[in-house]
Amino acid sequence: MVLLGAALVLTSCGGFKDAGFAPACPLGVGRGMWDVGFVEGRDPGPGSIEGRKLLENPNFGATAEAAGDLEAGIVDQRLIGALGVLTREHRICVDAFKEGHYFLPGVPDGPRIPKGYGKAGGLPNTHYYGRAADIWWVDGKPVEGNATDPAVLEVGKTLAGLQPERRPDQIIGPPGWTGTLGYGREEGWISAPDQLELHKDHIHIGYIEEKDPNAR
Ligand SMILES: [Zn+2]
Repeated sequence: MVLLGAALVLTSCGGFKDAGFAPACPLGVGRGMWDVGFVEGRDPGPGSIEGRKLLENPNFGATAEAAGDLEAGIVDQRLIGALGVLTREHRICVDAFKEGHYFLPGVPDGPRIPKGYGKAGGLPNTHYYGRAADIWWVDGKPVEGNATDPAVLEVGKTLAGLQPERRPDQIIGPPGWTGTLGYGREEGWISAPDQLELHKDHIHIGYIEEKDPNAR
């Protein structure tokens, strides 16, 4: 049964079949909901082609829920693009876009961040709209405890280097990561101390604006 469980996890991890011995998501990590049928049972959405391409990228990995969001086409195109750039140099594992994201354990997410989640309570929830991703692992290493690891820092530098209209405007990570990188609001970073404390274990990238104001 142990072996069967491991196989299910591997199958659920997007891109694994092409990733050889280095899947983007570590073995056995996730929220424990690895029902493959859940992903397969969804109808592909109109905007799902780019999402499926990302899933085929061997440097990209996702939990079953996050993969389902990509297949359903609910993930913002700018976000898919940014993740595509990040996976050029690093293996990136996304824990959640919309499905399976919780601000507070046991409290279903809604359009707004719940009260009790730092000072951000009441603000629009970008995860709910498919405009945010939580990255928990980079190159197979957890973000937690590796905030100043060169690969994890490079993810921040790559994000900062994106064109402003393509760059997430809601970048939040661990205190050490944020402090070492030294970026500010102009580059999209949020550095409110309460938010950094809530992001010790992952990097959140999101888009506050519904769509690029410069888009035609
Ligand atoms: Zn997040």
